[in-house]
Amino acid sequence: MTKFEALGLQKSLLDAVADLGFKTPSEVQDKAIPILLEDETDLVALAQTGTGKTAAFGFPLIQKIDRESRTTQGLILSPTRELCLQITNELKLYAKYEKSINVVAIYGGASITDQARQVKRGAQIVVATPGRMKDMIGRRLVDISKIDYCILDEADEMLNMGFFEDIKDILSNTPKEKSTWLFSATMPKEVSVIAKKFMHSPQEITVGDKNAGATTVQHEYYVVGGRDRYPALKRLADTNPDIFSVIFCRTKRDTQRVAEKLIEDGYNAGALHGDLSQNQRDLVMNSFRKKQIQMLVATDVAARGIDVDDITHVINYQLPDEIETYTHRSGRTGRAGKSGISMVIVTRSELRKIKAIENKIKQKFISKTIPTGIEICEIQLYHLANKIKDTEINEEVENYLPAINDVFHGIDREELIKKIVSVEFTRFYNYYNKTRDLNTPDSGEQRGSRRGDDQTPGSVRYFINVGEKDGYDWMSLKDFIRNTVGLGKDDVFKVDVKDSFSFFNTDAETTEKILSTFTEFKVDGRFVNVEVSKNPGGGRGRRDRSRSGGGSRDRDKRSNSGRGRDRSVSSKRRGRKSSGNSSYSGKRRDKRKSDFF
Ligand code: AMP
Repeated sequence: MTKFEALGLQKSLLDAVADLGFKTPSEVQDKAIPILLEDETDLVALAQTGTGKTAAFGFPLIQKIDRESRTTQGLILSPTRELCLQITNELKLYAKYEKSINVVAIYGGASITDQARQVKRGAQIVVATPGRMKDMIGRRLVDISKIDYCILDEADEMLNMGFFEDIKDILSNTPKEKSTWLFSATMPKEVSVIAKKFMHSPQEITVGDKNAGATTVQHEYYVVGGRDRYPALKRLADTNPDIFSVIFCRTKRDTQRVAEKLIEDGYNAGALHGDLSQNQRDLVMNSFRKKQIQMLVATDVAARGIDVDDITHVINYQLPDEIETYTHRSGRTGRAGKSGISMVIVTRSELRKIKAIENKIKQKFISKTIPTGIEICEIQLYHLANKIKDTEINEEVENYLPAINDVFHGIDREELIKKIVSVEFTRFYNYYNKTRDLNTPDSGEQRGSRRGDDQTPGSVRYFINVGEKDGYDWMSLKDFIRNTVGLGKDDVFKVDVKDSFSFFNTDAETTEKILSTFTEFKVDGRFVNVEVSKNPGGGRGRRDRSRSGGGSRDRDKRSNSGRGRDRSVSSKRRGRKSSGNSSYSGKRRDKRKSDFF
């Protein structure tokens, strides 16, 4: 018997589970499904997005629906159109072998008449956003007076978005005798109010820690000057060449401007906010899902319901006003069992907010420093070398080889390698070579004893030739190194996993042990090398360097060009630089544009 069978699901649903490839129930499914199948009960489930909660309520709902009747029996309310469509699609997959069950999505921004027509044809389950639902009730286009089940999904987000009154109105149109299942990541006061007012002795389940963010997320903060947010963001992106991220801004205007700047600077970025038409938002979301967009800059409201599983980083370009909102933001990464990183760019005056968030999420932040230009160059160089190594050879080049060999005649292997990597590397090098340190004096050690800071005096940074491609994330790599070398829980820190290589730090006294363990060390027949990083991220040195140069901001200015800085550079210089840039092509065409925003 599989574990799903043990939950009491009927055969048609177990077949769908098998088709979906779900092997074992997630925690919320394990806890919720038996309760919902067995009893007619109200339920409050505290579970984050990405924990499998759609299936936790979806399977019991489908099993309990009277398929002979065409009356609307189940109503699911969800905060956004995105989520509404996702739930609808998932439910259709769950009901794959229950042909007589109809699930209809009702949401704003699409034809209300079409949706009304679909409901009229007989929808036993309606999935709706509160605004459109209220509209349709008002116009008598939907009848929810006979429902048996009402599900409030992401209740905290719905209330955050100001749907309190709408939800109250909608619920007052439903019968008293029904079961209400409320799913929420957190339990703020407003959610408790709804639960108290509309639910009867609900059973409660909690997945993970109440009110806590997903534990697979590492929280980091970077202290910079207020005007350095944008260059800091760029550096964070450049240190993570395979980043797939959501960047949160506070206003629509900032969202649009940051996205535009990133696009200008050659990144695969897009904006998502409420001033865009539904069509524009759909286009952006589609590109993001296909990973054509690597950096999605979004407002909190627009990002609600983004349900993409493998987001590697959430970047808080600015902190939100509400701590609750931070939980929603960081919950976009570390989904479906993967690990993720939530980065916060803060100014000194915002530091107390970090403390408040730590208290709320019951997790410590790691204080980190914005990488220096040279660190970024090093990462990009390794990334490039590995990319070349992993590139599949296109056999078509065979025909051109004689001619190509002629071109390279007389150049030895070492020189050729240097030249190949320089093609791309020089671009980063020229841009970052003389840029200043972006960290404020408060960065890094300013919170004293924090471990995990590469600038910890006496700490050594290492390069290791394994990364994401080998199945590691920051947690598993840390464990691998600790267990292999025989180190304590906190002895390995600042683990930065890239695609095919990584970096980590230890105290200097551990260096010998690390290097001797990883001498001639093999895993599955493959050598795992560890070297002391050429650029140990020694904060003091690099800070001193940038300061002793004096007027580092000016130096930075000189090394940059681009539209963002047009007003401050002469047209002559602009012309020269831009013609230089034009020789570069590819995804990140022009890294040398303005660092300013
Ligand atoms: P949700 O929290 O409902 O948004 O689900 C997050 C993701 O996990 C979705 O892509 C689901 O298809 C997937 N999922 C849900 N339950 C399971 C399971 N038991 N095993 C594997 N994946 C699952």
